[in-house]
Amino acid sequence: MTATTPGLVCVHHHLYSALARGMPAPPKVPTCFQEILEQIWWRLDCALDLEMIRWSAMLGALEALEQGTTAIVDHHESPHAIEGSLEVIAAACAEVGVRVVCAYGVTDRHGPEGARRGLEENRYFLEAGGRGLVGVHAAFTCREETLEAAAGLAADLGVGVHIHVAEGEGDVAAADRLAGLTRDDWLLAHGVHLPDDHRLRGTVLHNPRSNLNNAVGYADPRRFSQPVALGTDGIGGNMIEEFRLAYVLHRSVDVTATPDTAWRWLETGWDLVPEAREDRVTWSYEPMDPWHIAFTPGIRPLRVEVDGEVVFEEGRPTRVDAAEVRTKAKEQAARLHARL
Ligand SMILES: [Zn+2]
Repeated sequence: MTATTPGLVCVHHHLYSALARGMPAPPKVPTCFQEILEQIWWRLDCALDLEMIRWSAMLGALEALEQGTTAIVDHHESPHAIEGSLEVIAAACAEVGVRVVCAYGVTDRHGPEGARRGLEENRYFLEAGGRGLVGVHAAFTCREETLEAAAGLAADLGVGVHIHVAEGEGDVAAADRLAGLTRDDWLLAHGVHLPDDHRLRGTVLHNPRSNLNNAVGYADPRRFSQPVALGTDGIGGNMIEEFRLAYVLHRSVDVTATPDTAWRWLETGWDLVPEAREDRVTWSYEPMDPWHIAFTPGIRPLRVEVDGEVVFEEGRPTRVDAAEVRTKAKEQAARLHARL
């Protein structure tokens, strides 16, 4: 008994985080989201070089493909390896056979020069024909000039902006600061601390597992009138599991909730990366119906076809050697962890 669906879409990923697993513990236990950023992610991203970025993207893309996710909307930051980083990620995903929409997360964390270089990386990649968006880390790490420059660049290039919005309490000013800038093609990751009636334009990217892991709260996305889509925020690429969690968290605050709502959030991914609708995933389970999937663990793809090519069959990717990708990624993880 098998069933076929289009390729699934992860609308908010950080492929660079694939090598974070097993990293040394931070010097001090983080006690809030800001400290998680400072002690874990902002130390990790500063240590990345292009070779690490390449193998983290290969591993992240492979793991996504193995779960029937054929399109990733990535948000990247590597302050000491900015130039060329998006091309490295795009090439790695192409090698595995997974679609990717790249963005470099512009920030003033490393001063105006760092922000300028981030903007230029977005511009360079997009003007060269790369599939992407203009990335911004978050309003709370950017000056007004930087937010305006990113919004302007995106508008000039005819793409949206991919930005974290009100993920933690430290970014509650985002709704006001971004109010005049957003457009319908913006991707607003998290929105945990956005007011119900925020007037930002764009799609809210809901990442339930990450929000739980960071103890930032439940975004409760049913309260928004804007479209909602599902991402992992870098914790793998298994969108079936993310859907299952999104459903049960919704249910935890509303006993009348049905899996259809979280399934609609998953389907919004196809509005953001329409190419994935043409991909084909044959699953180990039938029927692929929200009420079944919500209560059925272990559903896995048997065969994945991307853009007409079979890229996963009989438990293995067809374009790359999974064992080799994992070995190389492990070597790069060791290099990365040694720098922390
Ligand atoms: Zn994120």
